Amino acid sequence: MAETSPGVALTRELIQKPSVTPADAGALDILETRLRAAGFSTQRLPFSDEGTPDIDNLYARIGDSAPYLLFAGHTDVVPPGDSAKWRADPFAGEIIDGELVGRGAADMKGGIAAFAAAACAYVEKRQRPKGSIGFLITGDEEGPAINGTIKMLEWLKQRGEHFDHAIVGEPTNAQMLGDMIKIGRRGSLNGRLVVRGVQGHVAYPQRADNPVGHLLALCAALKDEPLDSGTEWFDASNLEITSIDIGNAATNVIPAEAVVRFNIRFNDNWTPESLKEEIRRRLSSARPAEKFELAFDPCNALSFITQPGPFTELVAGAIEAETGRRPEFSTSGGTSDARFIARYGPVVEFGLVGKTMHQIDERVALTDIDRLTAIYARILETYFG
Ligand SMILES: [Zn+2]
Repeated sequence: MAETSPGVALTRELIQKPSVTPADAGALDILETRLRAAGFSTQRLPFSDEGTPDIDNLYARIGDSAPYLLFAGHTDVVPPGDSAKWRADPFAGEIIDGELVGRGAADMKGGIAAFAAAACAYVEKRQRPKGSIGFLITGDEEGPAINGTIKMLEWLKQRGEHFDHAIVGEPTNAQMLGDMIKIGRRGSLNGRLVVRGVQGHVAYPQRADNPVGHLLALCAALKDEPLDSGTEWFDASNLEITSIDIGNAATNVIPAEAVVRFNIRFNDNWTPESLKEEIRRRLSSARPAEKFELAFDPCNALSFITQPGPFTELVAGAIEAETGRRPEFSTSGGTSDARFIARYGPVVEFGLVGKTMHQIDERVALTDIDRLTAIYARILETYFG
C-alpha cells in the first residue's frame, strides 16, 4: 500500500478508537497529542450533569489575537450495528479499494482529521497564524448533547474568548465533495396533543363522546394550511404527525382519549414561542379548548442562518478552487451542533460526503480526505492571508 497522507493517517487512528457515545476510548488523546506537537495549547473539558453520562471534550487554540477561526466537531460516533455485516471491522480503519471503511469515517472523524492536518501543516510552516486557530471538539454530539458543545461554548464565554468565524466539519455533501455548504439549519419542535372524549359502548354512542372524531378535526387543522411558503434561504416550515396512539384493544368500546405526537421543522419565520401560539390558534379554531391538552417538549433547536457574505464566499471559493464545483448554500437536513455555535458567532458547515453516515460500511474516499484537507488549508491561507 502506498504511504498515506497525514489526513488519512489521522482519520485511521481516530477510527481505531471506538468512541461510541458516551465513550471516548482515547480518541481525544490522539487529536490532543497531534495538536500539542504542532504548538497548540490544549485543555480537556470533562462535563457532567444529572441523568446524562459524563463526557470528555477537547479545546485547543494557537494564537491569542483576532481574527479567530474556530473549527468545531465531534469525535463520538453512533454504534456500528451488526459488525458481522461490515466488509471490515468497523473500528479497524481498513482501506479497501481506495476507501477508508469504518464507523466515523464520514461523520466525522475524517473531517476532524482533515482540519487538524491542514491546521498543523499551516502552523508548522508559519509558526503562528496572524490571528488564532481553535478546535472545539466534543464527545457528545450523537448522544444527549448536554455535556458537549453547549457547555464548552459557555466555558469559552466565561473566559472572555470570542471566535470570529466557525466551521463545523459535518459531512454536508450528498454525493460529491463540493456539493453543499450548510449556512443554517431549521429548528425542531416536538408537540403532544391529548384529545379528550367520554368512554362508552359503541352501541350507545349518544352516551359517549368519541375522541377520534375530534382528533381527525384537530389533525386536519394542524396540517391543512401550510405554516409558511419558505424564506430567502429556507424551505417552507413543515409539521409532520409522527404518531397517533389510542391503544384500544376492544372492538365494542369508544375510547376515552387519543394522543397525537408531531414534530415541526421550522425556518427563520418562527420562534418556538410564535410557533406554539400558531399551533394553539389552529387547534382552538377546530375544537373547544376543553377537548384537548397541548404540550411541547423543551426546544433547544432554534433555526439559524449565517447570511451569505465575505466569509461564506471565502469558504465557497476555496471549495471551488479545489474541486471545480460551486457549492450550493443550503439550510436543509436535520439539526447539528452548529445551532449552538450560531448563538456566539457566524458558522458554516462543510465536510466530507455523508452518503454512508450512520450506515453499515460507512466509508470515505481517500482522495476526498486529501481534497478536504486541501480545501481547509486554502481556507486557512485565505483567512489569515
Ligand atoms: Zn456528525
